[in-house]
Amino acid sequence: MHAADAFVAALRADLGPDRVVTDPEVAATHAVDWTGRFHGVPPAVVRPRTVDEVAAVVATAIEHGIALVPQGGNTGLVGGATPCDGEVVVDLRALAAVTDVDPVGGQLTAGAGTTVADVQAAARGAGWAYGVDWAARDSATVGGSVATDAGGLRFVRHGSTRRQLLGVEAVLGTGATIRHLPAVEKDNTGYDLAALLCGSEGTLGLVTAARLRLVPPAGPLATALVGFASTAAAVEAASVLRRSLAGLEAVELVLADGVALVRSVTGLPAPLAAEAPVLLLVEAGDHVDPERRLAEAVAGLDGVLDAAVAVDGPRRAQLWRYREEHTSAISTVGPPHKFDVTLPAAALAAFIDDVPDVVAAVAPSARTWCFGHAADGNVHVNVTGLAPDDEAVADVVLQRVADLGGSISAEHGIGRAKRRWLHLARTPSEVGAMRAIKAALDPHGLCNPAVLLPPP
Ligand SMILES: Cc1cc2nc3c(=O)[nH]c(=O)nc-3n(C[C@H](O)[C@H](O)[C@H](O)COP(=O)(O)OP(=O)(O)OC[C@H]3O[C@@H](n4cnc5c(N)ncnc54)[C@H](O)[C@@H]3O)c2cc1C
Repeated sequence: MHAADAFVAALRADLGPDRVVTDPEVAATHAVDWTGRFHGVPPAVVRPRTVDEVAAVVATAIEHGIALVPQGGNTGLVGGATPCDGEVVVDLRALAAVTDVDPVGGQLTAGAGTTVADVQAAARGAGWAYGVDWAARDSATVGGSVATDAGGLRFVRHGSTRRQLLGVEAVLGTGATIRHLPAVEKDNTGYDLAALLCGSEGTLGLVTAARLRLVPPAGPLATALVGFASTAAAVEAASVLRRSLAGLEAVELVLADGVALVRSVTGLPAPLAAEAPVLLLVEAGDHVDPERRLAEAVAGLDGVLDAAVAVDGPRRAQLWRYREEHTSAISTVGPPHKFDVTLPAAALAAFIDDVPDVVAAVAPSARTWCFGHAADGNVHVNVTGLAPDDEAVADVVLQRVADLGGSISAEHGIGRAKRRWLHLARTPSEVGAMRAIKAALDPHGLCNPAVLLPPP
């Protein structure tokens, strides 16, 4: 019997037939990434409902030598959850309970399959907030966000997922289950295994639950969309706001061509009376008078062409759409190649201005779309009009980032998409240390083997 068939038969006997799906039509719904760039044909999709069932899946995979790709909401943007090499998909969305909410300490435990929106709702219900947020909140899961160390729209205030993480429960590639979900805030009892699994992209094991730190709610929010004459003026303004505006929650950057695309897809009206080549979406919370404070802060910035400030929910939501609809709108042009990169503050504006020419030099008919988290130096360079396997653009864009002292992955991870370029961000000895960790925690090499680390 073929190894995959034996794996399926053994797991069905152990967990019951409904946990193991081999119907090609169902499997196909797990076989393509969100961008449409990466495809695979999984022999099976496994749907465990408890940590013990996940442990049974890993034990059976070890017995039969079957590679596994963990999958949550499948909103990842680097092909990390796609079974391109015939791996079995482990769909973790059924582990979706929120438990042990501590409204006094500001913590909760969430199963790996819990969506980020459900964590946010549970936090609100306890009088707190969850510090990480982004447009895919309704589908992206706790497991996926831990595995990618997701950043998002409020990184400037609360940092990435790693900063919210107090502990994890996971089944490692060794088959062992680790469970450290502390009820305390401070805990430095040795190696921080949660931090190690955070950002490991499913290569060390399968996260089944996370203990999450909550943050104080922001208070009433004001949101501004501010048009600038140049990228340099917008980047400088982001720095000024970080230093001067208390309660700053988000500073996002979009460009005129991206806004025009969003408008053509959504039918939104022009955001400002004046045409602006670069716009910042700024949000801040304040318990006294958020609108006045934000308007005053914007009025004090250099290079502003026009601005709109809102405090009521629907109008704020509309301003956010000019930013949040970018990812979807760009995908209507065609499957994008995504380069989620960070630059030192001093290099950010020139990089954003230059990168279309860097792309055009090797792909004249491609289009480049930039937007991102301005306060974090994080720009999402999206390139449409390329063949799925084109690597020339990645070569020049990622090399440019490295030359400027930036990082080739800010928050999406390395995945399949960028593992060939890991050496631009990590030294050989660092990659060697990562391989040693992988060998220790996934000695059979069955946990997402084609992700993050390049082939030796
Ligand atoms: C519209 C849109 C906007 C986005 N904006 C942002 C943003 O602002 N910031 C940001 O950081 N990301 C953003 N993303 C990317 C994406 O939402 C995140 O990477 C998210 O963390 C992925 O979660 P997921 O549950 O969908 O994971 P998946 O896509 O299913 O998986 C992602 C990776 O995690 C691994 N994985 C999944 N679950 C587990 C688990 N339980 N245990 C171990 N490994 C696991 C997978 O194998 C894969 O390598 C955006 C995506 C979209 C579509």
